Amino acid sequence: NSFMELNLSRPLLRACDTLGYTKPTPIQVSLASSSQFPFYFCPVAAVIPLALTGRDICGSAITGSGKTAAFTLPTLERLLFRPKRVPAIRVLILTPTRELAVQVHSMVEKLAQFTDIRCCLVVGGLSTKVQEAALRSMPDIVVATPGRMIDHLRNSMSVDLEDLAVLILDEADRLLELGFSAEIYELVRLCPERRQTMLFSATMTEEIDGLIKLSLTKPLRLSA
Ligand code: AMP
Repeated sequence: NSFMELNLSRPLLRACDTLGYTKPTPIQVSLASSSQFPFYFCPVAAVIPLALTGRDICGSAITGSGKTAAFTLPTLERLLFRPKRVPAIRVLILTPTRELAVQVHSMVEKLAQFTDIRCCLVVGGLSTKVQEAALRSMPDIVVATPGRMIDHLRNSMSVDLEDLAVLILDEADRLLELGFSAEIYELVRLCPERRQTMLFSATMTEEIDGLIKLSLTKPLRLSA
């Protein structure tokens, strides 16, 4: 029942310790059962150990459950263990709003503080030029709102997602509610087919199910 048992490397355990996390929250380590999810359902499962295996994950989780650390820690672990061959964006985290992107970015920076993994924030309202320069420097992780990310991918020859290893759709229900479905589908198409995808949503609707079918492969369905 501690982070020690999750097979995370030292810099990540040290970050959890610095942040005052003594033990994982339920979504991070053990999830209750739910009959809502018909397939690939794990009765006793958790995001961190399952995400470490590289499987696609779809989690029904609300803000406050510790979901950000739940998807960030295994993602950082995988980056630490699979150093990149060339500078490239390896992880894209999409959020519905600028505010959430800022929070997620700050969480990723805190959890990655003892590693050399770099994370950049790409949202509307910040200077496009500054963000473009940050993206060109090939940060390992990009936290973005969909519209602004699409703008950069369309307008800059040197920004692409060809080496992406992990795609994370945070608050997928709100991403769709706010009308980002065209952008999300376009972004998914720009990602390599061989990748890990994690999707989190407070609610599971038919629309979300459609998004899951198109962007995840045999996902493990988890609920907090
Ligand atoms: P989230 O659900 O990602 O919005 O996280 C809610 C809050 O829980 C954030 O302030 C996190 O820093 C905090 N948090 C995440 N994991 C843990 C943990 N294992 N122990 C204590 N706090 C945590």
